[in-house]
Amino acid sequence: MKIRFLGTGAAEGIPSFGCTCPRCQVARREGVPNARRRASLLVEAGGHRILLDTPPEIGTLLNQAEIFDLSAILLSHEHFDHIGGLTEFEYWNRVLPIFAGYDVLPKLRLTPRLAERALLSGFYSHTWLHFGDLRVMPFKVIHHVPCYGFAFEEAGVRVLHFSDSGPELGALHRHLIERADVAIFHTPTFEPYRSHISVQEVISLAQEYTIQRVIITHINHNNLLHDELVERTASYGITVAYDGLTLEV
Ligand SMILES: [Zn+2]
Ligand SMILES: [Zn+2]
Ligand SMILES: [Zn+2]
Repeated sequence: MKIRFLGTGAAEGIPSFGCTCPRCQVARREGVPNARRRASLLVEAGGHRILLDTPPEIGTLLNQAEIFDLSAILLSHEHFDHIGGLTEFEYWNRVLPIFAGYDVLPKLRLTPRLAERALLSGFYSHTWLHFGDLRVMPFKVIHHVPCYGFAFEEAGVRVLHFSDSGPELGALHRHLIERADVAIFHTPTFEPYRSHISVQEVISLAQEYTIQRVIITHINHNNLLHDELVERTASYGITVAYDGLTLEV
């Protein structure tokens, strides 16, 4: 399975417009890895290519990554940084399956042109979606609004993507983590919030479980600079994603 991090920034992206904090200034001056477009992920497996979330800059992200075909789009939740670019797909030149939770679907506003192209489908938590040999299971996570993480499985490899998730995990999440090869968490900062897990809380999880690879993404401008964050987390086996990072798992 191949995972490509198209964007790895939190809600505002880095640099955040209107912000002159030191991290945003470094990002403006030096670009990647300190510049982070808003979070979007591409999963390629079993002959399929799945896009997870459509931030406002998705058109640019797909062009830069030279991605010209998609099997489907999965949407985690209604926040602007995750669906703000959905309307871009009204210019996609073919039919496109789009999946979202049944409690997320009513929040989507499809323009008439997009409605013509979108094969919109709903899912429930803990039901499997099949894309050839790639299986995907959405699972509910704690956030301000209904939000889903996703378990991707192919050829015996399990990748968990927690999307925008609070630190509170249920028994079902823990069961998934116990058998995960890769776990991806959205960690805007080191600050603990009910609706967003922190870097520190992911460090604790990495110590508690024997996950081969823990990856953090969806990082905001109040977090450390990329190199500082790598230095702080590397000894716990944590990978800090950056825009363009591609992993074969
Ligand atoms: Zn977000
Ligand atoms: Zn800033
Ligand atoms: Zn969110």
